Amino acid sequence: EDTSKSKAAPEWYRAGLPHIWLPYAQMKTAPAPLPVVRTAGSRIVLADGRELIDGIASWWTACHGYNHPHIRAAVARQMADMPHVMFGGLVHEQALTLARRLAAMLPGDLTRVFFSDSGSVSVEVAMKMAVQYWLNRGVRAKTTFVAFKGGYHGDTTGTMAVCDPDEGMHALFAGLLPQHIIADLPDTEEHAAALDALLARAHGTIAGILVEPLVQGAGGMKFHDAGTLRRLRALADKYELLLIFDEIFTGFGRTGAMFACEAAGVTPDIVTLSKALTGGTLPLAATIATSTVFDAFWSDDPQKALMHGPTFMANALACAAANASLDLFEREPRLDQVARIAAALEEGLAPAREFLRVKDVRVKGAIGVVELDRIDDVSALRAHFVGEGVFVRPFGNIVYLAPAFTIAQDELNTLTSAVLKVVRSL
Ligand code: PLP
Repeated sequence: EDTSKSKAAPEWYRAGLPHIWLPYAQMKTAPAPLPVVRTAGSRIVLADGRELIDGIASWWTACHGYNHPHIRAAVARQMADMPHVMFGGLVHEQALTLARRLAAMLPGDLTRVFFSDSGSVSVEVAMKMAVQYWLNRGVRAKTTFVAFKGGYHGDTTGTMAVCDPDEGMHALFAGLLPQHIIADLPDTEEHAAALDALLARAHGTIAGILVEPLVQGAGGMKFHDAGTLRRLRALADKYELLLIFDEIFTGFGRTGAMFACEAAGVTPDIVTLSKALTGGTLPLAATIATSTVFDAFWSDDPQKALMHGPTFMANALACAAANASLDLFEREPRLDQVARIAAALEEGLAPAREFLRVKDVRVKGAIGVVELDRIDDVSALRAHFVGEGVFVRPFGNIVYLAPAFTIAQDELNTLTSAVLKVVRSL
């Protein structure tokens, strides 16, 4: 069924569609996008009245479900007072309160918060901070990064260069981007020894190590354990490199603990957060550094300042939403809900292990993954899910669920049943 030609499609949809450019989509052949008129809890309501159960919480952001009344009220209050004010030379209660709360929640000495407006930009800021950390200390050669196969850190030019260059979505740009080292994660003795040898040779030109802790998300939903992160911390210390955790996906409970760094017992030097920071309501990101990193910028020399400042950084509505989201984590049993979801995903997806085309089924926190040998027609698969009344968006060879933590048991059952049904039919 082609929604774009359907008589039932609203006028705004038919008139506007020829002017929109969609993400990650071959506009000529991609199926028409679904017109959404409302969201609530784990439901997406379409223009024709159909309701889909959402399996991926809008790219893993809507951790409290959509349209939570507590966040809505906080944003409405802030809207009445001050939707936005520039952050150059001005500050406001929502941003300072949020910074204080994030610093208190994060482990160790991660206490200095720089706000931006998207995950990619928060990673750019982390990379810039790391390079300038060395420049400010008089070290000019440490300008590159070690990142990992299977990794994904964003779509901007700087972050594309630290994504997996082969399997990732930016392979087209290979050779045109800054060159970094993309290594195997030290998840085995052999890989750890190889990384150690590489760093022994190259550490003089490396500013830091950048990793998505515990779960590599958009690069293939691959998991690793705390031991891998402990090895990275040890190597970063041995070769004097900054360790940067990109917790844009894993932050705020997704893997079962509030932050993956906390679950792993490893404290990075810089951490990036976004996505669920505002409960998926407004764009906001944060790059948080230890006081050791911050101290390298603390100087009488104006040249040592961090020269970065997105126009909409620390937007007051977004910070109000984030503070309200943190209230919900304090008041409601989110991490217990994640544990319950993990158990339900384990049980619900387990039968897929027996299916012909399935290579692996894995669960970590509120993330359930069915890895196939390949997916021939990802558009057809996505449409098949819509036909089952659920919104699930497979990519590469992966079908995954990452629902809101507040999802009801029967909604979760519908999702796992739909995954089994669709995958079995392949
Ligand atoms: N880093 C990770 C781990 C992500 O999962 C994402 C988004 O999927 C990003 C960075 C990029 O964030 P954004 O899309 O907000 O720029």
